[in-house]
Amino acid sequence: MIQRDYLVIGGGIGGASACEGIRRHDKRGSVTLVSAEVFPPYKRWILSKSFLREKSLQPKKLQEPTEHWYQAHKIETRFGTVATQFNIDRRLAVLANGESIAAARSDHQLPALVSAM
Ligand SMILES: Cc1cc2nc3c(=O)[nH]c(=O)nc-3n(C[C@H](O)[C@H](O)[C@H](O)COP(=O)(O)OP(=O)(O)OC[C@H]3O[C@@H](n4cnc5c(N)ncnc54)[C@H](O)[C@@H]3O)c2cc1C
Repeated sequence: MIQRDYLVIGGGIGGASACEGIRRHDKRGSVTLVSAEVFPPYKRWILSKSFLREKSLQPKKLQEPTEHWYQAHKIETRFGTVATQFNIDRRLAVLANGESIAAARSDHQLPALVSAM
């Protein structure tokens, strides 16, 4: 069983915002972001605005924060990974590859398990 201080499930803007919020308040706690998508969180709404009409597409414009931000802030990312089971009482998620991740920040100032799916 993998132990983390915080576990965020969902790689949309909600998951990205949860990671940013955690790091604003806790610079050191271990954080894992799990997302079914193979890409880092991106701003989906830009797709229906001017982005797709631009002459040269720049996918990096969609990312906020950037992929580098997760590394720089020591957030482990597991993209392309589906969580198949949850046990909310135990703050635990089972991944499709059979691994279990438990989240248990001891001071309880922030939620240890964030579902942003
Ligand atoms: C083309 C387009 C245009 C839009 N325009 C606007 C707009 O103008 N204004 C506006 O307010 N909103 C707009 N939206 C909606 C806005 O983008 C969404 O409200 C927002 O993306 C929701 O973010 P979220 O993080 O809550 O959820 P999502 O973006 O749905 O993210 C959920 C994440 O959870 C992951 N996930 C789900 N189940 C699992 C699982 N079991 N295990 C692991 N990961 C899982 C998914 O893969 C995904 O990464 C638009 C959306 C689109 C697609």
